[in-house]
Amino acid sequence: MIIIMSPSATEEEIHLVQHEIEATGFRPFMNPGVERKVIAVLGELDVRKADLAEQFQAMAGVARVELISDLWKLASRSYYPAGSVVRVGDVSIGSDEVVIVAGPCSVESEAQMIQLAHQIKAAGGKMLRGGAFKPRTSPYSFQGLGEEGLRILAKAREETGLPVVTEVMDTHEVDLVCKYADVLQIGTRNMQNYALLKKVGTTGHPVLLKRGLGSKIRDLLMSAEYIISEGNTKVILCERGITTFEDSTRNTTDINAIPVLKNWTHLPVMLDPSHATGNWQYVAAIAGAAVAAGSDGVMIEVHNDPARAWSDGPQSLTPERFQNLVVRLRAIAEAVDRAV
Ligand code: PEP
Ligand code: MN
Repeated sequence: MIIIMSPSATEEEIHLVQHEIEATGFRPFMNPGVERKVIAVLGELDVRKADLAEQFQAMAGVARVELISDLWKLASRSYYPAGSVVRVGDVSIGSDEVVIVAGPCSVESEAQMIQLAHQIKAAGGKMLRGGAFKPRTSPYSFQGLGEEGLRILAKAREETGLPVVTEVMDTHEVDLVCKYADVLQIGTRNMQNYALLKKVGTTGHPVLLKRGLGSKIRDLLMSAEYIISEGNTKVILCERGITTFEDSTRNTTDINAIPVLKNWTHLPVMLDPSHATGNWQYVAAIAGAAVAAGSDGVMIEVHNDPARAWSDGPQSLTPERFQNLVVRLRAIAEAVDRAV
């Protein structure tokens, strides 16, 4: 349930409504990013919903009370019909611009990252990616450079001005990653790590939440709800392919997820065609499909020497191929009234 206060409602009237919500055993939530004076009523409302709606409707300063039927209340499109824009430095995700995030799967060295960062920026990339803490299927695979990787990412940002997104895997590393990164990535394997979701929800950092490889769109939205309900409304969702019976590609891109998410939530939506396909030859086609389907951005793995990459070489584009892809995405974006 959300209570929409009238624009002229006083602080006192807002306070009284919040107090009344608490008195009825629920939790009031005000979104600082929403210009309207909207108070969400959180809790297990179902049984008493109709009575409470009438009770709040009668209070001074209340313009309207709306019931939100979705289980994800704060992530619901009806909570913020205009659609939210997540700002990261000069970059706006969820605006008319389709944002291209690019970089290697793993940060391997300072020289590699700085060179790639310049190439990505020159090609039109707006944000850098690179893993410092890597969730690998095998414990014997490269696990990432850790804090050294974060330091290198910060250096690449310093040199190019591009904000950086990097994965955080553990609640104990959230503060550390916040010191270096602009956006915290929650990887597919941690989409339902509720302790981690709650922890990143207490930071002011934007979060890129990737869909679990075996998770439904509904589950992705419930995970987003965990982050937002802790007070962090800056959540970007990312489709990255799901596990299906099809084995010709690493994962199966659920392109449906883009229009479904745009319909169900106000949060910006991105697609990662690199992990979705696992094969650089298919990355351009699926990145183009994502932009055509209404994605607010794409995240692309780029490596200066894919054959020697420490992780995910087969799905990484060379900087030249990345440059060609940006040109292609620009044309597709224009056809759907967006810009790259
Ligand atoms: C990544 O983006 O580096 C990554 C590991 O992706 P995912 O969690 O989607 O597998
Ligand atoms: Mn990768």
